[in-house]
Amino acid sequence: MKLSRSALAADQTHHIHPFSYPAAVREGRFRRIVERAEGVYQIDSEGRRSIDAVSGLGCVNIGYGREEMADTIAEAVRTLSFHPVFWECTNPYSAALVEKLDQLTPANMQHFFFANSGSEANDTAIKLVRWYWKLQGKPQKQHVISRDMAYHGMNLLSASLTGLQPCHPQFSLPIAGVSHIMAPWSWVNGADLDDEDFGLRAAQALEDEILRVGPERVGAFIGEPMQATGACVTPPASYWPEIRRICDRYDVLLIADEVVTGFGRTGQWFGQQYFGFEADITVLAKGISSAYFPVSAVVLNTRVGETLSTNPEELYHGYTCSCHPVGAATALKNIQILQDEGLVERVRDHLAPRFWQRLEALREHPLVGEIRGAGLGAGLQLTADKASRSFFPEGSGIDALVARYTWDKGVIVRDLGADTVGLMPPFITSDDELDQIFSALRHGLDRALLSLEH
Ligand code: PMP
Repeated sequence: MKLSRSALAADQTHHIHPFSYPAAVREGRFRRIVERAEGVYQIDSEGRRSIDAVSGLGCVNIGYGREEMADTIAEAVRTLSFHPVFWECTNPYSAALVEKLDQLTPANMQHFFFANSGSEANDTAIKLVRWYWKLQGKPQKQHVISRDMAYHGMNLLSASLTGLQPCHPQFSLPIAGVSHIMAPWSWVNGADLDDEDFGLRAAQALEDEILRVGPERVGAFIGEPMQATGACVTPPASYWPEIRRICDRYDVLLIADEVVTGFGRTGQWFGQQYFGFEADITVLAKGISSAYFPVSAVVLNTRVGETLSTNPEELYHGYTCSCHPVGAATALKNIQILQDEGLVERVRDHLAPRFWQRLEALREHPLVGEIRGAGLGAGLQLTADKASRSFFPEGSGIDALVARYTWDKGVIVRDLGADTVGLMPPFITSDDELDQIFSALRHGLDRALLSLEH
């Protein structure tokens, strides 16, 4: 579809864009106007083809514009364009998705509830935690512990769980009953410790917080296996197993927000398999449908799921489009493509090793302080001084500068804030495209360095 002048003018004046400066849009300062996308490429209104090295928002894992996805979606629309799964109803698409997920997921993912976004799914997870503890006769276990740098969404509750400080003041958040502990961010919090010890120290912050609030009041701890949006903070191997032990010790439910890590990003189907732990509740979105249709899910283990699914009361929770037939068909086809093309194995065995080899080569760059991540996701921590691990002055936008110069060479990377540049290429990226990503990124780093020197 071509963009008309009148539509652009309407967008500029009447569309309040999320995570944007509204005033910049009002002045017509759009960063990109993207008209089409195919494979790993985005094509903008000026005809520029750029490699999208961040898979949209870490979601378009199978690549853009696939014919078989279009056919699947069209068939579902023609057959059953809508029916709710409320009131004990189901349909072939919704049931087939559940069957597929049940076969695919590990033993701790047994019972599925569907929503449309990561934010809704995280809100749902916390509502189900509350209900679970009520059914256990412990209604006071309502407090939820999250972490600094976390991104769990933007609804009142999920935004409260989010630990990125700028997301709170405009909306008087966080709401009561949520607290945050330190992120396992060794660059900032762990200079004096080796990885193993730092992981244990960062996990210890959870125990300290449970004891501060009172274990009888704490219902759950929530965390992303790898904090993708939050500067790609990635914990050392000792962290998650220790978090699991602490949750068990105090009877606190462990929620893994796998909105980004689910469906292959780490080279395992789920981030829990990569980091070696099992959550009680898992939250899925993005990669479940590669964002061809909004689909998300909350997945319960047997302990929580059997309690809730055998309870005789009605569940007073749901969304109009929960497990929408077209969404279910989309997710099903997306998963089938991941399986048929062996894309998760491709990430694990082929792409991620090449990706990390290329990343390692950037370690010596004067701007690069640390490289974090897992599988096909990474963050480059830029620094003004490697020895003292110092940040650039507030507002210098060094990561945005690198992203802009990288884009000059036809590659889109993400400025994550906290002087961090993020990379999350699609799983179909070819070797040649991966090489192009890194040569553009090196150019971006070099140009940013040069501009600092002048
Ligand atoms: N959790 C995580 C880990 C995320 O990365 C995101 C989105 N970036 C969300 C939750 C929220 O998902 P949504 O934007 O679909 O509400």
